[in-house]
Amino acid sequence: MINIGILALQGAVREHAKALEAPDVNVIVVKRTEQLDELDGLVFPGGESTTMRRLIDKYGFFEPLKAFAGSGKPMFGTCAGAILMATEIKGQEHPHLAVMDMTVERNAFGRQRESFEAPLKVKEIGEDVHGVFIRAPIIERVGPAVDVIAEYDGDIVAAKQGNFLACSYHPELTDDDRMHQYFASMVRKNHVPA
Ligand code: GLN
Repeated sequence: MINIGILALQGAVREHAKALEAPDVNVIVVKRTEQLDELDGLVFPGGESTTMRRLIDKYGFFEPLKAFAGSGKPMFGTCAGAILMATEIKGQEHPHLAVMDMTVERNAFGRQRESFEAPLKVKEIGEDVHGVFIRAPIIERVGPAVDVIAEYDGDIVAAKQGNFLACSYHPELTDDDRMHQYFASMVRKNHVPA
């Protein structure tokens, strides 16, 4: 079995849990820092990145999450979760966890396109991945270690850096569980049975 946690400080949890379902996946709803020790991988849901950061600090998650990322265990950030993982946030002095070498711009599609859906071609995953964008960020820049895995209209919307996966859309809000199952396969690959 592999244990995949969902950081449950804010945002969708049940939807992510459903998308992660597999015979060998045990989903853990993470509300306390001690739970991170049991995990083989962690999902950061969408929501509001500044609020999530406030809760991360309030509940003492900042250092434990940095340590988790440093351990090389896979992390998957969706939307606000991707913002938390970026080393740089446009127009903001400080990033949050700063674990993925990329610059994100928050709410980057503008008011006209606050939320929309689009089919995406995602490298290693497939075509017609259903992208649900809600006040989504754009990944403006990626470092040399980062692989761009999806673009929408010329803008980067999903990327991977080693064991870190990030997308600016919400794969948990669709019936298409390929992004989550891909993440589960990353966790499986990284997992060394005790
Ligand atoms: N715009 C939000 C933020 O900056 C992210 C939106 C989302 O997660 N749906 O945090």
